[in-house]
Amino acid sequence: MLISASQSGDVVVPPTREAAQAWTSIAEAHRLLVMAEEMAHVGHWQFDQISGLGYFSDEARRMFGFAEDVTITREPVLNAYHPEDRARVLALLNDHIAAGTRFEYPAKIVQPSGEVRELLVRGRCDRNPEGTAVVTFGTVLDVTEIRRTEQRLQETSTLLTNTLNTMDQGLLMIDADGIVQVCNARAIELLELPAAMMQSKPSFSTVVRYQQEQDDFAKSDPSFQGWVASGGLESRPQTYERERPNGTVLEIRTVPLSDGSAVRTFTDITERKQNERRIAHMARHDDLTDLPNRTLFHECLNQRLDALQRRGGGCAVLCLDLDRFKAVNDTFGHLAGDALLREMAGRLKRIVPAGDVVARLGGDEFAILVSDVDRSETMSDLAARLVAAVKVPTLIGAQSVQVGVSVGIALAPEHGVNGETVFRRADLALYQAKADGRGTFRMFEFAFDDRAADRLSLEIDLRHAISSGTLALHYQPQARSDTGEIVGFEVLARWDHPVRGSIAPATFIGLAEETGLILPLGELVLRAACREAAGWARPLKIAVNLSPRQFSDVDLPERILAILAETGLSPARLELEVTETVIINDLERARAVLHRLRAMGIHISMDDFGTGYSSLATLQAFPFDKIKIDQSFVSSMDANPQSKAIVRAVLGLGHSLKMGVVAEGVETAAQLQFLSASGCDEVQGYFIGRPQPVEIFGDIIHAIDRL
Ligand code: C2E
Ligand code: CA
Ligand code: CA
Repeated sequence: MLISASQSGDVVVPPTREAAQAWTSIAEAHRLLVMAEEMAHVGHWQFDQISGLGYFSDEARRMFGFAEDVTITREPVLNAYHPEDRARVLALLNDHIAAGTRFEYPAKIVQPSGEVRELLVRGRCDRNPEGTAVVTFGTVLDVTEIRRTEQRLQETSTLLTNTLNTMDQGLLMIDADGIVQVCNARAIELLELPAAMMQSKPSFSTVVRYQQEQDDFAKSDPSFQGWVASGGLESRPQTYERERPNGTVLEIRTVPLSDGSAVRTFTDITERKQNERRIAHMARHDDLTDLPNRTLFHECLNQRLDALQRRGGGCAVLCLDLDRFKAVNDTFGHLAGDALLREMAGRLKRIVPAGDVVARLGGDEFAILVSDVDRSETMSDLAARLVAAVKVPTLIGAQSVQVGVSVGIALAPEHGVNGETVFRRADLALYQAKADGRGTFRMFEFAFDDRAADRLSLEIDLRHAISSGTLALHYQPQARSDTGEIVGFEVLARWDHPVRGSIAPATFIGLAEETGLILPLGELVLRAACREAAGWARPLKIAVNLSPRQFSDVDLPERILAILAETGLSPARLELEVTETVIINDLERARAVLHRLRAMGIHISMDDFGTGYSSLATLQAFPFDKIKIDQSFVSSMDANPQSKAIVRAVLGLGHSLKMGVVAEGVETAAQLQFLSASGCDEVQGYFIGRPQPVEIFGDIIHAIDRL
C-alpha cells in the first residue's frame, strides 16, 4: 500500500527478475510492517519541512481518520487535533522544530466520524548541514484503550480504598514476604495501632511485636500467645475470637491466598458476645436472687461428681426449704416475699464458703453444693449455722418477720456417686428434717430410702382405701360447758390399714395433702358425715375438717351444696373447720369462698386458733362463727398460768367479735371447771368423750326425749 498508494502517486514497474524479487521482498516487508503497526496500534509519519508535505502510514491514517485520498499537509493534521489541544500541539511542535529536539506529547484527536481518540506522538527533527530543519518524522501511538483501562483501574482502586476505609471490619493484607501491604482505618482503630507505623508498610512481625509490647494478648491463654508470637499465620483458613485489654472482643478471620499472601479481617463482636453471655446467664440463673438455678446447680453437681470419680475426694449436697415462707408471702404480699428471698439468699451465700454453689431451685427451695468435704461433721456445723442465720428476724418495711429453714444433707460418695441419687437423698433428708418439726437439719440415712419406698406403698394403699370406701369416721362430742349438753360432733377420719393396723390421721392426712388425695378423701368424709347426720333424730351439728388443698378448689361451695342436696342435710347443721393456712394461702379467694359458704347457711370455725400466724388480723377480716382454742393452750393451763391468761384473752376476743369459742383437748374436770367459769361456750376433749364410731353415741343422737 505504501508503494501503490504512496503520496507520490508513482507506480513503478520493475524491469528485471532480480529487481522483481527485490520488489517482492520489499512488498513482503511492507506487508509485515502494516500488520505489526495495526496490531500494536502504532503508526509512523514523516513531514518534509520544506515542501510541507507529509506521509502517514496506514495505521497513522486510521488513527487520524484520514481517507486514502487525503493529501497530508500540516493543515488537516493540525485540524484533526481536538480544539483543546490544537494550540498546545502547534506551539510545542514549533518549539521543538526550532530547537531541533526530540519531542513527545499526548493529544486528543477528533476523527471525522466525531470519535475522540487519545494519541501519544513521538518525533524527531532532522536538519541539513546548514542547520535548517528539513524533515520531521516519528510515531504515533493510539493509547485510547490504555488510558481507558488506566482510568478504570484508578476508579477501581479509589473505590477499593474507600470501601476498605469505610467498612466495618478491620482488614490487613499481608504479602508472601510477611509485609502488611494493606491496613484499613478500621483495623488501626480496632487494634489501636499507630497509624504512622501502619502506613510505613511494616512487616507483620513488627506489628505483632508492637502488640506484645502493649500487652495486647494479656487476656489470651499462653498457648495462643505463643502461636501469635510465631507469626500466627497458617496455610489454612481459620477463625478465632480474642478479647483485647480494653474489653472489645474481636472475631479474627485469616484467609491464606494461593500466592502465599493472606487477608486477615477483624470484626468487633463485643456486643454479640455480651448478648450471648447475658442470655446464657439468664438461662442458668434465677432472676430474683441472681443465684444459679436448678439447671446450673445440676450441671455443677454432675461436674463435681465426675471429678470426684477420677481424682477422689468428697462433696455434699444440701437441700433447703424455708419454713413459713408462704405465710409471709401471702400476708405481706409478693414484694415482701421477694425481698425476703433475696435477703435469705444473701445470708446463705455469706455462710457458704466461696467457690461453693448456692442455687435457688424455685419458690422457697434452695440447694447448696459444697465441693470439698472431708468429714460429715463439717456439714452438720454448716447446716446448723445456716439454720441459725435464717432464723434471725428480718425487717420488711416496718415489720419484723421471722422464717426458718429445714436442711437435708447427702454426701458423695457415701450416699451416692450419681447426681440424681445424691440430690434425691438430700431431698429425702430434707423431708425428714421437716417431719422432725422444721427449723432443723438432717443428714441422709439409708433408712430414709426405705421410708420413701414405704411412703409410696402407703400412698397406693390410701388411694385404694379411699376408692374402696374402707376409711372409717369417728365422732367426737362437743358439749356446752355450762350444762354439759352435747350439741354436736367433730368428724375425724380413721384408717385401719389391713397390714399396718391403725394409722394416725396426722400421717395419712399429711400424705393425702401432699399427694392431692385429700380432695377425694375430703369429699368422702363430708358426704358420709352428712348422710349420717341427716339420718339422726336430733338435729345435732357435725363439724367437718376442711384441708387447705380442698379450699383452693374454686368449686368448693357448689360441691358442698351438691352434697347437702344429695344427703338432705340442712346447711345450718354443718360446720366447717378451717385453719389459718387456708386463709393465708390466698387471702382474697378465701374471703370470697367463706362468704359464699356462710351465705348458704353453713357455719365456719377457725380450728387450732393460736398456733397460726396472724390470728387477730384474720379474725377481723373473716366471718367465722366460732373459734376453736388449740388444745396446746388447754393442756398447758395447769402448769402454765400464762396459758390461762391466753385462754381468757381469746375468750374475750371471740366474744367481742361475736364469735362462739370452743376449747379443744379438755381432759380434766379442772380444765372444764376453769373454762366454764371463764365463759367458754363449748368444750371438746377426752373428758367429754373420745372420738368413737357413731354407734357408741346412739342414745344421744336418737334420744328424742332429751330435746
Ligand atoms: P384436729 O382437727 O385438731 O382434731 C382434733 C384432734 O385432737 C383429733 O386428733 C382428736 O382425736 C384429738 N383430740 C380430741 N380430744 C382430745 C383430747 O382431749 N386430748 C388429746 N390429746 N387429743 C384430743 P386426730 O383424730 O388424730 O386428728 C388429727 C388431725 O387430723 C385433726 O386435728 C385434723 O386436723 C386432721 N383430720 C382428721 N380427720 C380429718 C378429715 O376428715 N379431714 C381433714 N381435712 N383433716 C382431718
Ligand atoms: Ca378440727
Ligand atoms: Ca383442732
